[in-house]
Amino acid sequence: MEQVSSVIATVHEIALKGGNRGWFERTLLANVRAALRGLPVASVSLPARVVVRFSAPVPWDEAFSRLSLVFGLNGIMPVERAGGTYDQLEAFTGERIGDLAGKSFAVRCKRSDKRFPLHSNEVNRRLGGFVQERTGARVDLEHPDVTLHVLLQSDGIWVYRDHFPGPGGLPVGSSGRVLVLLSGGIDSPAAAYLAMKRGTKAHYVHFHSAPYTSDASVAKVERLVRVLVRHQGACRLAVVPFGECQQEIVAACPERLRVVLYRRMMLRAAERIARRWRCEALVTGESLNQVASQTLENMAAIDRVAHLPVLRPLVGLDKQEIIAIAERAATFELSILPHQDCCSFLQPLHPATRSTAAECDEAEAAIDVEAWARKLQHDAAVTVVQHRWEPAAAPLEA
Ligand code: ATP
Ligand code: MG
Repeated sequence: MEQVSSVIATVHEIALKGGNRGWFERTLLANVRAALRGLPVASVSLPARVVVRFSAPVPWDEAFSRLSLVFGLNGIMPVERAGGTYDQLEAFTGERIGDLAGKSFAVRCKRSDKRFPLHSNEVNRRLGGFVQERTGARVDLEHPDVTLHVLLQSDGIWVYRDHFPGPGGLPVGSSGRVLVLLSGGIDSPAAAYLAMKRGTKAHYVHFHSAPYTSDASVAKVERLVRVLVRHQGACRLAVVPFGECQQEIVAACPERLRVVLYRRMMLRAAERIARRWRCEALVTGESLNQVASQTLENMAAIDRVAHLPVLRPLVGLDKQEIIAIAERAATFELSILPHQDCCSFLQPLHPATRSTAAECDEAEAAIDVEAWARKLQHDAAVTVVQHRWEPAAAPLEA
């Protein structure tokens, strides 16, 4: 398939949203339009599924690769419009089944417009009989070589043969905003992907230890954000110099609590940034017991300093499952590039696995945590990361 004039995408979960449905639908349609920006889109509507009509044919690969980033879309199909009546459908089909001779096929009709005079089963039978008669092709409802899909919608009859998986989930922007604590590792980008998949708009904060370590993690995180932002078009990234604060924690607090104390400071600073950006929750890439800082006890001690909910979309997943998500998010290849994480800087030899909030509070009495949180927020370098679609490469002249 080279070029398409229309694409239809199915929408599963949005349909469950009762009273909020209109809001979800508007968000989804706006996201579809944004993802297709620069292509000749004539209309985007949602009679029963998302229907995109182009005013000129566009390469299918281009349309699909863009739509496959839009959360809320389930199946994505290149479609053709086959008129509005059964007779038009039959005439249209008759012109497109030359390749069916010697093959098996099935017709599968879905009637979302209940005003259509024929039921889906009648369309299946009648069109099936017509195709069989014209081509001699054999009907096989179990394992057909070719499936002729027919959608009877209020905006007309649409046909397609192939459908491709979309990303699923809910439209970004329909579930509020979050601030993701993004390291350069595998996990936090996967967590960001899942948070967006549930419909949140994601912004990012990254802490680095430069000048004590290289600032390679910053460039890496910027690259990760450019991949993640494709799902929503634009986001903010705060890059926070954290080395001095770490130095003070190292100098003033018990070694075994260092990582938990780093994390608590990150959370305090992140929360300030989140409030400024009107984010309603923080997101981390933690998974229960994956490393020493991620025990239930430590998570509890860390969360005690936050007032916003701390979401951990990966909490119950193992590394292989997380890697599969990172691959889907297209962040894995970037994440495995080497970098120096700020938490491995001045890492204790024996990190506490069972800290308590009380002992962290006591340890932090030696430093002015609020002043640090203010300073970290103040020192954050903020950029807006905008996704721009690459213009499609011009076809090569022969
Ligand atoms: P990741 O793969 O995301 O780095 P991890 O398995 O290495 O996670 P930790 O180093 O314990 O786990 O970090 C746990 C979470 O804390 C990260 O997923 C991320 O959300 C947050 N975090 C850790 N380091 C940073 C950092 N430098 N900047 C921002 N957030 C961070
Ligand atoms: Mg890490």
